[in-house]
Amino acid sequence: MEQLKRTTHCGALRKQDVGKTVVLNGWVHRKRDHGGITFINLRDRYGITQVVVGEGSALSALTAELRNEYCIAVEGRVRLRPDGMVNPEMPTGEIEVDADQLLILNRSEVLPFPIDEETGAKEELRLKYRYLDLRSGGMQKRIRLRHEVSFAVRAWMIRQGFYEIETPTFIKSTPEGARDYLVPSRLYPGKFYALPQSPQLYKQILMVAGFDKYFQIARCYRDEDARGDRQPEFTQIDIEMSFVDREDILTMTEGLMGHVFKQCLNQDLPPQFTRLSYETAQEQYGTDKPDLRFGMPLQDFGPYIAAGDFQAFKDALASGEAAKQVAAAKGITQAGGGVKALVVPGKASYSRKQIEELEAQAKIYQAKGLAWMKVTGTQAAPVLEGGVAKFFAAQAKEIVQGLGANPGDLILMVGDARRKIANIALGAVRSKLGRDLGLLDPKRFAFVWILDFPLFTFNEAENHWEAAHHMFSYPQTQYHGSLEQDPGSVKGDLYDLVLNGYELASGSIRIHDPVLQKRIFHILGFDPQEAEQKFGFLTEAFKFGAPPHGGIAPGLDRLVMLMAGETSIKEVIPFPKNSFAESPLDDSPSEVAQKQLDELHLSIVRTQAP
Ligand code: ASP
Repeated sequence: MEQLKRTTHCGALRKQDVGKTVVLNGWVHRKRDHGGITFINLRDRYGITQVVVGEGSALSALTAELRNEYCIAVEGRVRLRPDGMVNPEMPTGEIEVDADQLLILNRSEVLPFPIDEETGAKEELRLKYRYLDLRSGGMQKRIRLRHEVSFAVRAWMIRQGFYEIETPTFIKSTPEGARDYLVPSRLYPGKFYALPQSPQLYKQILMVAGFDKYFQIARCYRDEDARGDRQPEFTQIDIEMSFVDREDILTMTEGLMGHVFKQCLNQDLPPQFTRLSYETAQEQYGTDKPDLRFGMPLQDFGPYIAAGDFQAFKDALASGEAAKQVAAAKGITQAGGGVKALVVPGKASYSRKQIEELEAQAKIYQAKGLAWMKVTGTQAAPVLEGGVAKFFAAQAKEIVQGLGANPGDLILMVGDARRKIANIALGAVRSKLGRDLGLLDPKRFAFVWILDFPLFTFNEAENHWEAAHHMFSYPQTQYHGSLEQDPGSVKGDLYDLVLNGYELASGSIRIHDPVLQKRIFHILGFDPQEAEQKFGFLTEAFKFGAPPHGGIAPGLDRLVMLMAGETSIKEVIPFPKNSFAESPLDDSPSEVAQKQLDELHLSIVRTQAP
C-alpha cells in the first residue's frame, strides 16, 4: 500500500501554498459533517489544518469511519477557504486541503478523556494516559517551552565559558538534607549506591579538578514524604564557579535569567534583582520566599503597645522578653516577642466573616488570633473603629500615619511571645490576601534575592544544629572566630533566588578549607570518624590546592512552571509521579521477581500488611 509520506506538516500551509498538492500526516482532532461534506481538523505538533472531503467523494466511506485521534494520512490540494469560512484564530485559517486520498495509519480506541485539557480530567487518569494528555495543546506548548528554556540555558552558559559536564547518578550515600534513594549493589552484597540529591559534591570536586566553570541540567532525587508539589525526581540547572565571590554568582544568575526570559518569553527583566536579607524578608513578609508582585509589607506595631491598652499584646511582648533572655543564655539570639501589623488598602469594607477567614489562616500558623481595626474619619483626623480599636483610640493619628494607612483601610495585627510566629502567621495572611485580591498576575515576574541566611538552624525535636542549606556553605568571615560558641548567630554566604513566592534557586559560596569544613561537621554532630567515612573523599580533595568556589542551582521545573503561568510542576514535567510518588503510567514502584531480590542479596521484611 502506498505510504502517503508527509510532504509538509499541519501548521505550515498558508495562502501562498494554494494550488499545491500536499500530503499531511497527523491525528483527527475533530470531525464535523455538514450536509455530506466532512471537515477534518488534522493535528500534529506544529498545528492544525482543515481537511475537506467533498460530497459524494470516493473517500466518503473511509471518512465515515474516522474517529477522534485516528492517525491518518491525507493527500490533497491546498485551496482558499470560501468567503466567510476564513478562521483568523488559526494560523492556517485561510486555507483548507481538498482531500483526494486518505489512509488510516492507525485507529484509536474510545478515549478515556478528550484531548483538550479544559475538560478537567482527573490527574490520575491524565498520568495513566500521559501520552494522550501530552497531545493536548496546553501540554504541547509547555513541553516546548521547557525545551526552549533548556536550550536557552545551554546556549547562554556555553557562551559564558561554562563546560557542560555530567556527573554520576550512582554515588555514595551522604547525608545532604533529605533521604537518599538507594540502589543495591549486586556485586557487593550489603552495599548500596545512592541516587544524587544533587551533584553538589561532584561539582565541588570538578572545581578542585580545575574546570573553573561548570554547569549541568541535572536530575536530582530526594526520597521525601509526598507533600504538596514535590516530585521524587526533579531537574536543576546546576552551576559551580571557581575564584568567585557572592556578587559574581548573583550577577551570573541575573544574566542567565535575563537571557532565558528574553529568549523564551520576550520579557525584559531588570538587570539587577531586588535584594533582601533573610532577617528583613522575615520581618517584612513573614517568609524567606516573599511574593513581591504585591506590596503590603508587615510592619512593627511594637511602638504603639506601651501607650495603648491592649493587654494581650502587652503580655505577648512581656513574655517574649522572658523567652529572649532564656534563649540568650543558651546562645540562641533570635527570640523575643513581637506584634506585627498589616495594612490592607481599601478593605475597611471587609465583613466579620471575611476577617474570620483571614484569622483562620493566621491560626494555621499558630497565631492565637488576628486582631483588626478599621480606619475611618479623614486623612487629617483619622479614627480607628471596630475590633481592638478602642484600646488604641487615643493614638489613632499616630498609628495611622506611622503605618502609612488611609481612611478606608483595614489594619490586621498578630502579637505573639515568639516574634517568629507573629511574622509567619501575618505573612500567611498577606499571602492569602494576595490570592483573594487577585494580586498574583501570572504574567509578572518579581525576582528577589534573599541573602545572609543563618548558616545553622536548631532542630528542637532532636536537640542539635542542622545546616540551613547544606554543610558545605561558607560561614561569613566575621563569624569564623565564634562558630562553636554561638552557632545560632552565624550568617552564611548563602543566597536564594525567589520568584513570585517560590524558591527558584539556592546556592552558596563553599568552604574550601578542610579545617573549616571539619569544624562545621563537628558543630553538626558528626564525630571525626563519621565525617571521615562519609565525606573523607571531599576533605581529601580539598587538601590538594582546592580553589575558592561557589555555585547555585535554579530548579528547571519551577522555572518553567512559573514562566508557563502554572502552579504545579507536574504541568511542565513530561512524566511526573503522582502525589504519592507513584507513576500510574508504568505502575511503578512495583514488586520485582524473587530472583532479582536474590541476586541483590535482599529480602523483604513486611512490617505491616501490604
Ligand atoms: N546543591 C544545592 C541544592 O540542591 C544547590 C547549590 O548549593 O548549588 O540545593
